[in-house]
Amino acid sequence: MRVIERGSGSPRVAVVGGIHGDEPAGERIVEQLVEEVRVADERIEGTVQLVVANERALAVGERYTEVDLNRTFPGDVESDTYETALAARLTTVLEGADAILALHTSHSVPPPFAIYSDLTESVRKTVTGMPVEYVVDAGNLRDTTLDSTLPHTVSLEAGRQGSEEAVDFGLEAARAFLRAHGVLHDEEPSFRETPVVTVDEEVPKGGGEPAVYYRNFEEIPKGEVFARDDVYTHRVTSEGMVPVLASEDGYDDIFGLYGRFTGTLEPHFHSGT
Ligand SMILES: [Zn+2]
Repeated sequence: MRVIERGSGSPRVAVVGGIHGDEPAGERIVEQLVEEVRVADERIEGTVQLVVANERALAVGERYTEVDLNRTFPGDVESDTYETALAARLTTVLEGADAILALHTSHSVPPPFAIYSDLTESVRKTVTGMPVEYVVDAGNLRDTTLDSTLPHTVSLEAGRQGSEEAVDFGLEAARAFLRAHGVLHDEEPSFRETPVVTVDEEVPKGGGEPAVYYRNFEEIPKGEVFARDDVYTHRVTSEGMVPVLASEDGYDDIFGLYGRFTGTLEPHFHSGT
C-alpha cells in the first residue's frame, strides 16, 4: 500500500485506487492527483489522502493475489492472507475520513456510475458533486466492501477496464469530488440530481457460453431474458428491472445485478455539513 498525504487539517478526504490489481486506471488517477495536489498549493484546504491499495496485485495485473480485497473488509491485521491483512491496514489509514472515493473499472459497458451502501450527507455530496449519470444503492447486497464498512465511502465505476476513457473520466470525477468537499478550490463545485438504482439480487452464472442481452440501466421488459448460459436462463418476471454491472465475462460467478429505479438523490445539504 502506498499512502501520500497532502495538506493538513480538516476536512480529510481520501481517493483510493488499485483496490483491484487488474484495474490500472485507479493507480494512474492517484498518481496524477499526487502531481496535481501540491502541499503548498493555495487551492487546497484540508487534507487529501491519496492511496494505491493492492500493489502486489497491480504488479502482477491480477484482480487479487489471495482473496478479493473488496470482499474482505474490514479485514484482520493478524491474518496470514495478504488481502485480509491489507484490508485492516487500509481501514486504519482511512478511518475517520470525512469522505472517501474508491476508484474502480469493470468489463461492463458505460455510462460510469457511483455506488454507495449507506447514504450519509457526505455520500450525498460526493455523488451529486460528480458527473455521474446514475448512482447504485448497494446497501442490501454488500457487507464486505470498502463502501459498506467505512462510513462516507462512495465507489466509482469509472468505465471499461483498461480504457483511456476510464482514466480521463475518473480523473475528472476525482477532481469534482475534491471540489464538492471544499478541498480543491481551482473552480466552483457543481452539483446535480442523480437517479438512484437500488440493487437487491445477484444474477448467478452457471457455465458454458454466456450471453447478456441488456445493458446497464436499460429496463428489461417483463417476460424478456436478461442473460443465459448452459445452466441458467434468466427471464425477468416483473416490471421495472434494470441490470447493473452487466457483463458476459466480467465475473466468474455472476452476470451482474438486478436493480430498480427508486428515486433521485437531490443535491441539497443540511447546514453545517
Ligand atoms: Zn474494482
